[in-house]
Amino acid sequence: VQRRSNDYVHQVYEQVKRRNANETEFLQATREIFDSLRPVFAQHPEYITNGILERLTEPERILTFRVAWEDDSCKVHVNRGYRVQFNSELGPYKGGLRFHPSVNSSIMKFLAFEQIFKNALTGQPIGAGKGGSDFDPKGKSDREIMRFCQSFMTELSRHIGPDIDVPAGDIGVGKREIGYLFGQYKRLKGGYEAGVLTGKDPSHGGSLGRKEATGYGTVYFTDEMLKEYGMSFTDKTVIVSGSGNVSIYAMEKAQQLGAKVIACSDSSGYIVDSDGIDLECVKQLKEVENKRIQEYVKTHPEARYIEDCSGVWSIPCDIALPCATQNEIDEESALLLIKNGVTAIGEGANMPCTNEALTIFQEHGILFAPAKAANAGGVAVSAMEMSQNSMRLRWTAEEVDDRLKVVMRSIYESCIDAADRFGKPGNLIMGANVAGFLKVADAMAAHGLS
Ligand code: GLU
Repeated sequence: VQRRSNDYVHQVYEQVKRRNANETEFLQATREIFDSLRPVFAQHPEYITNGILERLTEPERILTFRVAWEDDSCKVHVNRGYRVQFNSELGPYKGGLRFHPSVNSSIMKFLAFEQIFKNALTGQPIGAGKGGSDFDPKGKSDREIMRFCQSFMTELSRHIGPDIDVPAGDIGVGKREIGYLFGQYKRLKGGYEAGVLTGKDPSHGGSLGRKEATGYGTVYFTDEMLKEYGMSFTDKTVIVSGSGNVSIYAMEKAQQLGAKVIACSDSSGYIVDSDGIDLECVKQLKEVENKRIQEYVKTHPEARYIEDCSGVWSIPCDIALPCATQNEIDEESALLLIKNGVTAIGEGANMPCTNEALTIFQEHGILFAPAKAANAGGVAVSAMEMSQNSMRLRWTAEEVDDRLKVVMRSIYESCIDAADRFGKPGNLIMGANVAGFLKVADAMAAHGLS
C-alpha cells in the first residue's frame, strides 16, 4: 500500500515537472508538499482514484494581461499583470497581489499554491489565488502608483468579486495601493462592493488589526511551538529579516512578549542594534517616510548598517524570523544560524527557506514553524474583514486580536494532530502540509470531478 502511494506521488511529480519545466519556485513548493503527503495516500487510496494530486497541482485558471500606464513625464510603460485562480473548493479565490520586478509565472504559481494549504488551515471559507505584476514601485511617484493601480484594476475587475475572487496586499502592495485599486473597481462597477478587496484602510471598510495580523500571528504561532518545549520569547535574542508590514509587527509582538530584537533588514542591507531595535524609528522610516533602513543609524549611533541583506543571518540569535521574501535562507545561512546557536525559526514570509535549508534545520533538531501555518494570520484576518464587510459592522481591535489568537492556536493543534496521525510527531512542516491538504482534498472529493 505504501509503495502504491509512493509510486503515485512520484508519477504525479514527474508530470508536474514536465508541464512546468523551468518554474523553479513552483516546483520547489510542490516538491516540499509531495514529500509530506506520501503517508497520506497509503491511508486514503480514494484520493488516488479521484486524481486529487493531479487536480490540485493544476491551477483552475491563470490570467495574464497587459498593464499600460503613463509616467509623470508622459512616457508610456507596459507591465504584465497576473492572477492565478488556483483552487476554489473552500470559498472564493483569496490571496494577495505582489508588485515587484521579480514577479513571473513561477513565483505567482508557487505563491498561489502555498495559499491553498495556508487558507485551508485557517478554517475560514476561502479558496486560493495570487496575483501581481512585474511593476517596480521603487522610486515611483504617488501619481504613478495611482495610474498603474487604475490600469491594473481596469483589466482585473472583470475577473474578481466579493464571491468570486478577493485580492489583498503582498510585497509592494499596502493600504495605499489597495485604496487606488478599490477606487477604480468601484468606479467601474458603479456600486460599493466593500468585500472585493481586503487590507483596506480601516477608515473605509478595512478591518482593525489587519495590518498587524501576519506579524503578530507569526509570533503567536512560534510562541505556541516554544511553549510546547517549555520555552518562550522572554529574554530571547531575536533577528527579523525585512522591514515591511510582516517584519514590523513580528518585531512588535516579539518585543511585547519580552524578547530583544537586535536586527532587521531591507533589500539593500541590514541594521544591528544591540540595545534593541527602536521600532518607532523603523515605523517612521518605513511606514511614513518611505526611506531605506540605512537611515536608522543616523539617529542611532550605537547601531551598525551593513550593505548585504543576507548577512543578517550571520548574527547570533536564539530565534530567527525570516519575514522578507522567498528563499532568503539557503543552506549556507541555515548552517551559520545553527553554528551560532539558533533554537527556533518562525517563517513570516512565504517559503523563506530553501528545501535544503529545511532539511538541515530538521536534521539538527531546530524548532521550525513553517510559513503556511505561521504566516496564516494575515489571510485569516482578511477573511474576518470579508465577514465584517458582509455584515456591515466592525469589530474592535481587541475582538480581532482575540479571534486571531484562537485561529493561530487551532492551526497549531491541527498541525500537531496531523503530524501525529501520519507518523511524524512534532513535525510541524509535515503537519501543516497534511492538515491543509486534507481539508481541501475532502472538499474536492465531495464536489465531484472538476
Ligand atoms: N499576501 C498575504 C499572504 O501571503 C495575505 C493574503 C490575503 O490577505 O488575502 O497570505
